[in-house]
Order: sequence, then C-alpha cells, then structure tokens
Amino acid sequence: MVPGAIICKEAIAIEPRIEFVDYDMSTSNVELRSSPFRKIATGLGGNLGTNSNNDVQELLECPVCMNLMYPPIYQCPNGHTLCSTCKARVHNSCPTCRHELGNIRCLALEKIAESLELPCKYQIQGCNDIFPYYSKLKHEKNCKYRPYSCPYAGAECPVTGDIPFLVSHLKNDHKVDMHEGSSFNHRYVKSNPQEVENAIWMLTVFNCFGRQFCLHFEAFHLGTAPVYMAFLRFMGDEDEARQFSYSLEVGGNGRKLMWQGIPRSIRDSHKKIRDSQDGLIIQRNLALFFSGGDRQELKLKVAGRIWKEQ
Ligand SMILES: [Zn+2]
Ligand SMILES: [Zn+2]
Ligand SMILES: [Zn+2]
Ligand SMILES: [Zn+2]
Repeated sequence: MVPGAIICKEAIAIEPRIEFVDYDMSTSNVELRSSPFRKIATGLGGNLGTNSNNDVQELLECPVCMNLMYPPIYQCPNGHTLCSTCKARVHNSCPTCRHELGNIRCLALEKIAESLELPCKYQIQGCNDIFPYYSKLKHEKNCKYRPYSCPYAGAECPVTGDIPFLVSHLKNDHKVDMHEGSSFNHRYVKSNPQEVENAIWMLTVFNCFGRQFCLHFEAFHLGTAPVYMAFLRFMGDEDEARQFSYSLEVGGNGRKLMWQGIPRSIRDSHKKIRDSQDGLIIQRNLALFFSGGDRQELKLKVAGRIWKEQ
C-alpha cells in the first residue's frame, strides 16, 4: 500500500462537499440535468451513479484554482489536494491548513483520474467528444469548437469567441470596414512612406459565400528591405479555408504584380502568416514606382477576387 494513498482516502472522507451532495439531492440533480457530466454518468451503465461520478469530478477540481487537476497531483501531510500549477505558487505552504507542503503526491487521486472519461470542455459550443482524462487536454488544444482569437492585428486583442461574435466585435469595437461581395478594389494611401518602418493598415472584412475573409495590408522589413504585404485570412478552420482561393493584383505605370493563393485560417496567427510570406509582397521601391508621382506618397490600388474551388 502506498502511504500517499492512505492519506488521500482520509482526505476524501473528511471532504465536506460530499456530505453536502448527500443531504441536498434536489439541488445536485438540477445541476446534473444541465451538467456536461450527465451523459457520461448514464453512459457508465449504472456502475457509477450519477452523483458519485459528479463527486469524483469535484474531487479532481483543484480547491485553489478550480481547474481539473492533472498529474502530478499534490497533497499536504493533512491530505489537502492541490494542482501542480498552484503548488508552484504557494511557497511550500498548504493553502487550506498552512502546513508545510513538501512533495507528497496523491497517487490514489491520480489513479482515479486515469479511469475517468470526460466530455470536451467545448461541449456547450457543440463538441460531443468524450475522452479519457489524460487525452482531454490534448484534444481541447485542437478542438474545432474552441473559440477563435480576434483576427485584428495591430494591438494584441484578447477577445475570443465564435465567428459571428467576432464579426460583430470587429465591426463594433475595431470599426473595421465590412465589404459585401467577392471582388474588391482597395486603395492604400500613405504620405511620407519612407518613414513607415512598421505599419498595419486598417483591416477589411469581406463577406461572400456566406463566410468572412480578412484582408490585411502592412509594411515591415523583410531582412533589410522595406516591403508591403497583402494577404487574406479566412474566418474559420483550415480545412474550410482550403476550399477557397483568392487573387490580388497591384500595379501602375504599365506594370503589374499578381498573387494567387489560398486564404489562411485565422487559427494561424497574423505574425506566423507574415513570417511565412504567404501573400503578395511588394518591395517599397516598386510600390512607390507604382504610386507614380515623386515618391513622396504611397498610393496603391489593390484589386482582388475570392472564389470557391469546385
Ligand atoms: Zn490549482
Ligand atoms: Zn493542508
Ligand atoms: Zn472538443
Ligand atoms: Zn478584437
């Protein structure tokens, strides 16, 4: 018998939340009806009652940060459990009883965790997958129902959500231009372009084929060469992005540069796409030549089209 296991059992026995469930059945049943764990509990064929499955899940919640605990799970000599992230933050003192923590693992709880199957945390968003405890985190990192990050580039925006939410967020909070249709003609004008080392122009969102696309245009240095880059991002996942293509054209003075590509999913960060140079890149000298005049003003006309591949 592992000593840690004994201590842990005691911890379970003195856990006050268990008693609470026992004398307040009505409340816990109401919670259960809308709880993501209901499905699993019934799936277990009655081996584990719904209440006990819920209890086990509660036991695996870190009492400090309330997240599910993944091994290593720690406990103080009095049996209070703690996740490894919180353990690193509490300066070797148990947050529950202040006893010195040490490095005692709660092997019993780790074993219980191993035997559990839990729904993806994006179940409410539509994911119906159920995973062994240890695979859950890995799946959630790539779950296609996980929220998207705001595609606005420039300031780091912390907003996340589904696509309809992000579209209205771009419109209302970032004042992004919305454009209906699959072809466009866009002008980028900037005086004193020589001074612009790094710039992100206002993003434009295109609404076509019932989906949304983000057109980015920006200035940066490619090595030592100042360049402009235009590229398109798809507001959705990569497998859907691949169903579309787009073209961009820029020119002047009888010359023309053309780019054809596949929009990148907004799952890929703005910076990643820029660093991979997956878009129309225009050297600044050429861009100023396209602009005509005396090179004092950048005046680029970018024409583009989006289409769906058959
Ligand atoms: Zn924690
Ligand atoms: Zn303690
Ligand atoms: Zn999922
Ligand atoms: Zn945003």
